[in-house]
Amino acid sequence: MAGHSGGIPENIIEDIISGNDIVSVVGQYVRFTKTSGQNQFALCPFHSEDTPSFSVSVSKQIYYCFGCHKGGNVIQFIMEVEKLSFMEALRLLAERAKITLPEPEDDALKKLSVERDEIRDALLEAARYFYASLHSERGRIAVEYLEKRKITPQTAKKFGLGYAPDEWEGLYRWMRQKGVRDEILQKCGLFTKSKKGGLIDLFRGRLMFPIFDPMGKIVAFGGRILTDGTPKYINSPETEVYSKQRILYALNFAKTSKEKSLIIVEGYMDVISMHQAGVTNAVASLGTALTDRQLSLASRYAEEIVLFFDSDNAGRNAAIRSLKNLMTRLNRPSGMNAKLSVGRVLEGKDPDQYIREHGSEAFRKVVSDALPVLDYLVEAAQAQSVVDGRFDARTFQSLACEYLSWESNAVLRERAAGTVANILKVSVSSVMSEAKRAEDNESSRGSVEPLRAIKEQISAVPADETNRATHQEILLLCFLCENPEIFRDMPDKPIPTDFSAGTMREIAAGMIAELYKGVGGAAKLLERSEDKELNGRPARDVFSGILMKIKDVRDPKKLSRLVLDYLYRVREQVYTRRKKYLAVQIDGMAEGPDREASVDAFREVNNYLKFLREQIRELSN
Ligand SMILES: [Zn+2]
Repeated sequence: MAGHSGGIPENIIEDIISGNDIVSVVGQYVRFTKTSGQNQFALCPFHSEDTPSFSVSVSKQIYYCFGCHKGGNVIQFIMEVEKLSFMEALRLLAERAKITLPEPEDDALKKLSVERDEIRDALLEAARYFYASLHSERGRIAVEYLEKRKITPQTAKKFGLGYAPDEWEGLYRWMRQKGVRDEILQKCGLFTKSKKGGLIDLFRGRLMFPIFDPMGKIVAFGGRILTDGTPKYINSPETEVYSKQRILYALNFAKTSKEKSLIIVEGYMDVISMHQAGVTNAVASLGTALTDRQLSLASRYAEEIVLFFDSDNAGRNAAIRSLKNLMTRLNRPSGMNAKLSVGRVLEGKDPDQYIREHGSEAFRKVVSDALPVLDYLVEAAQAQSVVDGRFDARTFQSLACEYLSWESNAVLRERAAGTVANILKVSVSSVMSEAKRAEDNESSRGSVEPLRAIKEQISAVPADETNRATHQEILLLCFLCENPEIFRDMPDKPIPTDFSAGTMREIAAGMIAELYKGVGGAAKLLERSEDKELNGRPARDVFSGILMKIKDVRDPKKLSRLVLDYLYRVREQVYTRRKKYLAVQIDGMAEGPDREASVDAFREVNNYLKFLREQIRELSN
């Protein structure tokens, strides 16, 4: 958030930007005389000129003057032209778009928390509506489904299950009757806009699961369809009170369980049946792949975390991907000390199904037999290496060594290497060196992230705090902000340390975080640049100048190649600097383990540079 936004929530600022089309706002001050592609041109209101060089981009919602090089988004335009403060400009534009602005400065935060309370109250009202509907005649279909799944009325009550009738405005009318404000209705995540612009119920004809935060307050809902329709499950979108990554379903119940472990499964129904069967330490990640945030949340409540994945082939592959992600991430969840293992339900069953057939005692045994992550992976590699009913040792060797390479803890890695060595009837040291090679390959391939070690070294380079940035890194960031969908699909994503230290990195880091959320846009980038200086000029002027010159590339393939090319060029500069720095450092060092480590790092940097240059060459072909 911009430093002077006086505690106004970012989503309100976004509403104000999107509620004020820049062309019509600027059009009140200038007369557009020329159109070129997506851009409108006029005489600049900020400097005197005879030919129009002031442009406004419809698609990017920004302005930029090719004469005096001023640029910005709609808020910044109003600030500049009306000589207003940020808050004053915001107020003017909010009024124009009929958006209610929280009270300024001191009260803003208080207001936000009041709003959050209002949203929570509204969600509770909704839960009451769903609950009442379940127990009315219309809820018959949902009750039958629960009976079929052997969920008792007591369990349904404990989890607050309900039913959303198949109506467009059932909940809407109920909420209005309860006096819930329009603004809250829009923000609570339970409604969507109809074509006519009114609000309609998001959940229709679905069994409803309230999603609780760890304190037991309802923050969202999930709904399962009861007919053949799709999608089978939908969840409320993220709101001011709900962030998917920070919620584990049923943690509010599981946290009081006496068990030392916490069991993480995928869906609502699994968890509910498990609790009903007495397995009260189960939670669900809710469809999305388990995130490191969820894992660190879980580790606050348990010494051991046991993951369950679907036991078919697809489930196993998903498990492997998920574990790779958790193990190789640079930013391991801090304070993540809990032991992580994977439970296996035999006979290809869901935990829920297994408990129904064998009882909770038998399931407790399954939990205590859960395998440490690496052991699980070795076992998975074995299963994957059976080709046409025969065990293929070569496949096993390469898979197992790859999985071992994800483990950064040398002790754990060596222990699992022992198992692999046993299976292959070779020495542990040969397995260890193959795993090391897999790790080196992975990092020089740079597929997801370069070696952790290299990154640590990179961040150790003395920061250049001169607030300068190269043309290429500015272009890279502008392209990404303009095309958030490209970012999502990039095989290799930029990280903050790819950008020059100081302002550039600060803005890039903020935008990367937004891009991970799927948010982008030129106006957003300019918002983040407010008040900052880059290359001796206001950062937003620098960015808007480049943004305005970027042409729309419509071919997504071409675009993603282009962006990747910029990324590798930017990274090449970073690593070239790093290489020089290391060379100088090594020169001045006495023989010893420190020097050896630096020489190793030098080699890694050099390899990665080679890789980058190959990629650049390939991309420019
Ligand atoms: Zn100008």
